[in-house]
Amino acid sequence: MYALWNTYSVPPKAEFPIDVERWLREQSTALWPAALGSLSLRHSPCVRENCPACLRGEGHPSSILYCRIKGRRVGIYIPQELVPEIGRCLENGRALQELLYEAAQRYANAVKHQRTQKAKK
Ligand SMILES: [Zn+2]
Repeated sequence: MYALWNTYSVPPKAEFPIDVERWLREQSTALWPAALGSLSLRHSPCVRENCPACLRGEGHPSSILYCRIKGRRVGIYIPQELVPEIGRCLENGRALQELLYEAAQRYANAVKHQRTQKAKK
């Protein structure tokens, strides 16, 4: 859902690009480690003979982290004990993405504000 802002509904911000930079640096520091991708849980059979879990058809849980590198889909095996850590990293990634969308609005307003200030001189 995107809101379309216009100059009449949003009060002019007294923010300069340098303020937006400082704000974004501070906010993003708390969001490390951050990454974009998706974790997928699957159950696969192992190589052991007569494995009870495989005989029951359950297999063994394993997680794959999918991400896109230069347009190519890449899957990385993630051991189960590291899944919570990778999950937090992906949450930070989504939060960072939201932050960058917010930065677009604030930076655009700041550049417009700066232009107005320069024109007054
Ligand atoms: Zn097995």
